[in-house]
Amino acid sequence: LVQLFRPLDLLGFVYRTIRQGLIDMAAMFKLIDADVEVKDVPGAPALRIDRPGITFENVHFGYDPDREILHGLDFEIGAGETVALVGPSGAGKSTIARLLFRFYDPRAGRILIDGQDISKVTQESLRAAIGIVPQDSVLFNDTIGYNIGYGRPSHMDDADEDAIREAARGAAILPFIEMLPEGFETQVGERGLKLSGGEKQRVAIARTLLKNPPIVILDEATSALDSRTEQEILATLNRVARGRTTLAIAHRLSTIADADRILVLENGRLAEQGRHAELLRRDGLYAEMWARQQADSEA
Ligand code: ATP
Repeated sequence: LVQLFRPLDLLGFVYRTIRQGLIDMAAMFKLIDADVEVKDVPGAPALRIDRPGITFENVHFGYDPDREILHGLDFEIGAGETVALVGPSGAGKSTIARLLFRFYDPRAGRILIDGQDISKVTQESLRAAIGIVPQDSVLFNDTIGYNIGYGRPSHMDDADEDAIREAARGAAILPFIEMLPEGFETQVGERGLKLSGGEKQRVAIARTLLKNPPIVILDEATSALDSRTEQEILATLNRVARGRTTLAIAHRLSTIADADRILVLENGRLAEQGRHAELLRRDGLYAEMWARQQADSEA
C-alpha cells in the first residue's frame, strides 16, 4: 500500500505545485482567459543560473497582430539588483512580467536570463527560477501552515515545519500566527479565518521565501494599505529582495524611492531610467507622476 501511495503523493505534489503556481500567476496577471500557447523546443535544456541577470534585447510584443504594445524594449537588470518598474496604467508593466515568465514569446527581440534565451530553455526550469508575490494572493481552504508550505511533498513533517516557521518569521507573520489558538493549524480561506490584504500578502511572501528563487517579481498592491502596514510590508519585501534579482511593479511611487534603479515605461517604450533623485532632477514623466501622487496624498 505504501508503494501505491508514494507515487500518488508525488503526483499530488506536482499537481499542487502547478495548481498553486498557476493560481498565483492568474492572481497576478489576471490571466484566466489568456491562451497559453508557448511550447518547449524539442530537447530544450534546463535554465542554469549562476548570476541571475535579466536582459531585454529590442523586445517587440503585442497581444493582437494589429496592435503592438511593447515597441523595442532594451534594458538590463543586473544579478542581485532591485529594479522598480513604473509607468501610467496600460504602459505595459504587467506585460513585461508575463513575457519574463514566458506566457508569450516576443514578436521580435530576445529575453535572456543569465545569458540564456528564455525561449530556448524548459518552461519548468524557467518558472522554478522565478518567484512571484502577487498583490492579492488566493488562499486554499486549508490551514495557514499548508498555505505557506503548499507544494512541499509532506508539508507537515518536522523538517518542513521548521522551514515553514522560518518563512513565516521572515515574512513577519509569525507573531500573528502564534497568537491564534490553533497556530499553524488554523483553517483559513472562505470557510475559515479571513485574512486581511496585508496578511495575505505576507503569506505570499512566506511562500516565496520557502521557494527561495533567484529571481523575484513583486506586484505591489494598488489598493492603499494603512501607512504602518505599508511600511511593514515594505520592510519584509526588502528582505525578500535581498540577495535576489528583483523586479518590482510599483503603482505607488512612495514605496520605491530606494530601488537601485527605476525604469519608467510609457506606451511600451522606456521613457526614463535612473534613481529616484536623478529622475526628479530630470523633471520628466517620473517627476510629473511623483508630483501628482504627492498632491493626491495631501488631498
Ligand atoms: P496597470 O498599471 O493598469 O496594471 P500595465 O502597465 O501593467 O497597467 P499591461 O497590463 O501590461 O499594463 O497592459 C498593456 C496594454 O496591453 C494595455 O493597453 C492592455 O489593454 C493590453 N493588454 C493587456 N493584456 C491583454 C490581453 N490579454 N489581450 C489583449 N490586450 C491586452
